[in-house]
Amino acid sequence: MEFSVLKFGGSSLATEELRRLAAQRIIEKIKSGFVPVVVVSAMGRAGDSYSTDSLIDVIRRANPNPDPQNLDLMLSCGEIISAAVLAETLNQLGYRAQALTGWQAGIVTDQEFGSARIASIDPEAIIQACREQIIPVVAGFQGQTDSGRVTTLGRGGSDITAVAVAAALECPVVEIYTDVDGVKTVDPRLIPDAPTIKELTYGEIIELAHLGAKVVHPRAVEIAMEAGIELKILGTEQAGLGTTIAAGAGSKKRSVKITDRVVTGIAHLTRRAHVKISGQEDFNKSELTLRIFDLLARNQISIDLIYLSPQLIAFIIDEAKVDLVKQVLADLGLNTTVEKGYAKVSVVGAGMHGVPGVMARVVRSLERANVPIFQTTDSHANISCLIREKDLLEAVRALYAEFELSKEGM
Ligand code: ADP
Ligand code: ASP
Ligand code: MG
Repeated sequence: MEFSVLKFGGSSLATEELRRLAAQRIIEKIKSGFVPVVVVSAMGRAGDSYSTDSLIDVIRRANPNPDPQNLDLMLSCGEIISAAVLAETLNQLGYRAQALTGWQAGIVTDQEFGSARIASIDPEAIIQACREQIIPVVAGFQGQTDSGRVTTLGRGGSDITAVAVAAALECPVVEIYTDVDGVKTVDPRLIPDAPTIKELTYGEIIELAHLGAKVVHPRAVEIAMEAGIELKILGTEQAGLGTTIAAGAGSKKRSVKITDRVVTGIAHLTRRAHVKISGQEDFNKSELTLRIFDLLARNQISIDLIYLSPQLIAFIIDEAKVDLVKQVLADLGLNTTVEKGYAKVSVVGAGMHGVPGVMARVVRSLERANVPIFQTTDSHANISCLIREKDLLEAVRALYAEFELSKEGM
């Protein structure tokens, strides 16, 4: 059997019309000789009845801090509903289909409720359905522990399900259908006519995704990279080639071209808070430094853009964690300021490594756009700047122009 794994995101399944379009995509696969295996996210977005955000709202109205196991059980329902509805859409169109929960599809995870990792997949139920010419429609984002408790994989986790299922089936390509027709040089919500990037390496998309471009889950890309699976990001509504993600040129595996462009795309994260801690003569000679980072870790507060000097410790956090951080650091007897209203904007490109002057171009273009920079960080393939959230659009426009990201044909 030549499998084809197709994953549909929530916004691609929000209406009856869209679900019919998704079904057409699946039927086209059958017509071209493939055996489709479908993975779905919960239907719609915040406000739609069975979307993940709406389910979170419902349970939080009962208790703002629900038990993680109850929360996961609740959230798993969104994908199950979606799978059943899409399976029935296919049945209605004359193609036999069967909805499967994550655990019926053989997905076993660890015990990390809310951000579980897939430990193993036994694809027998999926294969059996395919043998009987029944299209399996698997509920994404979920699994079960060894002891039978329902878990979820973290926000955006249906992408992970799709790639992991493909790995278990030894299927070489996964098509991820979403509400944009591929990965753009910048989030199209900020620049609507940003062009689609035709080819990306695993490394580039992992960077973009970690830095805020949520079009695909970075863990899904990591699994794809390990298993040598090619990813295609495609629009459910638009025809087109979308974005192909594979190994870089020169690799023995299927490869994509690496362009000589230093910056391939821009990613951003909003709702960041800047934390600054001072009041110690020399943080380097103090045990307090370790205590601070220990306290943050024990309270599951992830920190980013970390700056450490004798007189100052600074980092950024998600604004949602501001109260918790204030509480955790309150008793240390230090001057701590926590300021909301920041964003992190990053330029990403595999070709940036060893090219002088990229930072100068970033700084110059932001300065010309009157966007103050509060901190920066860089790696071999990205440069990130902390800016005020109110300046985000200006900053993105300036970088978009500076690195000529409106040009197609990459
Ligand atoms: P799905 O429900 O299909 O999983 P997501 O909302 O998770 O969809 O991801 C698609 C969204 O990602 C798009 O609507 C877009 O706003 C956002 N996005 C952010 N950065 C990019 C980018 N560089 N290219 C394409 N989409 C992006
Ligand atoms: N429904 C889940 C979420 O909204 C998983 C996903 O969409 O991939 O995060
Ligand atoms: Mg997603």
